[in-house]
Amino acid sequence: MGYATTNPYTNQTLETFQGIGDQELDQALHTAQRTFETWRTKSFDERKEVVGRAARILRERSEEFARLPTLEMGKLYRESLDEVELAASILDYYADNAEEFLAPERVATEDPDAGEAVVVSDPIGVLFGVQPWNFPYYQLARLAGPNLMAGNVVMVKHASIVPQSAAAFERLFREAGAPEGAYTNVYASKEQVDRVIQDPRVRGVALTGSEGAGSSVAARAGEELKKSTLELGGSDALIVLSDADLDLSVERALWGRLNNAGQSCVAAKRIIVVEEVADEFLHRFSEGLAELKAGDPFDPDTSLPPLSSQSAADDLDALVEEAIEHGATVITPGEPVPEEGAFVQPRILTKVSRDNPVYDKEFFGPVALFFRAADEDEAVRIANDSSFGLGGSVFTQDTAHGAEVARRIETGMVFVNHPAWTKPNLPFGGTKRSGYGQELSEAGIQEFVNKKLINVMPTG
Ligand code: NAP
Repeated sequence: MGYATTNPYTNQTLETFQGIGDQELDQALHTAQRTFETWRTKSFDERKEVVGRAARILRERSEEFARLPTLEMGKLYRESLDEVELAASILDYYADNAEEFLAPERVATEDPDAGEAVVVSDPIGVLFGVQPWNFPYYQLARLAGPNLMAGNVVMVKHASIVPQSAAAFERLFREAGAPEGAYTNVYASKEQVDRVIQDPRVRGVALTGSEGAGSSVAARAGEELKKSTLELGGSDALIVLSDADLDLSVERALWGRLNNAGQSCVAAKRIIVVEEVADEFLHRFSEGLAELKAGDPFDPDTSLPPLSSQSAADDLDALVEEAIEHGATVITPGEPVPEEGAFVQPRILTKVSRDNPVYDKEFFGPVALFFRAADEDEAVRIANDSSFGLGGSVFTQDTAHGAEVARRIETGMVFVNHPAWTKPNLPFGGTKRSGYGQELSEAGIQEFVNKKLINVMPTG
């Protein structure tokens, strides 16, 4: 499929975009490589001036930026505004902290003959990012913020359904004073993605997306002996223990399942409640779903926008049908959603057995899988019975105990009394089939730097 803006609220295609030609792509790589040679020599203060200015522009013109994801992938406008602010805060975070994170580290040694040893962090070159549509700016900020500050340059193939958001981010960096080639957006095809990964000028690959895209891109990178990071899908468990504050748990579970119309990698896709409070929780959670108001994502009264595209909505509906065919029970609490537009009816699936083919699938939208657990041990067992390992959460009033339960969950991130979320200083990443490597926090800036040892021996 080509690059196009199709409004999922109306399903009308508003604009199509020409893919990049092979020659133009080669030229873009050439420019990126050339820019890297000078960008790498800039001081942290010089790079900070550009990255910090990009954050200021995002904030000053937040409404202009926020309009595009709402138009292209149906995100509630208020959530688009929040995302613009989050992207700005990530850029600021790395602008302010990169120098400290990448400061040379002295290696302590007791041995007088070992000389002085220090580890420095060198940038490695042109990085290639392949990014998803669900957070069109946040994803780009996670890649560009740390890596531009580290002295790398970045080329991005964004998802084909958000071409205007992708171009806006490239313009942002030019307006902020970045040289041409420091941040490049390319409307590349899958074949061109393979070629870019094979190109010797590209030194690392960062993909956020589905397992299929991840395994294809990582395989190419592996053949070329290039480092990759993979931020893939998830099926996060939200565990509610018997002593949990139910008001808080229900309110946050609704947010965890429904923010971004449920299309978040760390959405609370599986809700696991211990038997004692399961009925009450399910009742209140259903009531919350019934209150959703489907409509235009630009309308401030809307709480249930369409999904990102009609095909995403059809895929999710098909998954729900498959679940029911194989014995799951469905609860449909609210009014029917509009027939026009990429809307999906919010639903809860219960009695999803282990042999149901959907048991280990990612539900990317407003549909929750609900499990009853006899006790805490069973809740943990169900949570870990997943091929994914991204995030998760535990609700209990005994927070110390919650942290102990968190240690038993096999994922990259666990939150106590809050669904998984994200902040610039919190490391983000998964284990198992949710990928490898981390973004955000200090860890995120260390992924694509060369940790170089310099060992100076005395001459006498
Ligand atoms: P996707 O289909 O994998 O697309 C992601 C990106 O990869 C897009 O730019 C896409 O391009 C490209 N792509 C797809 N197949 C490819 C291939 N074979 N070779 C090269 N590039 C390829 O994923 P999505 O449906 O857009 O995004 C949702 C997924 O991302 C979910 O599984 C979600 O959980 C995951 N996600 C993970 C994180 C995280 O941090 N762990 C964050 C956000 C989302 P086209 O658009 O042109 O197809």
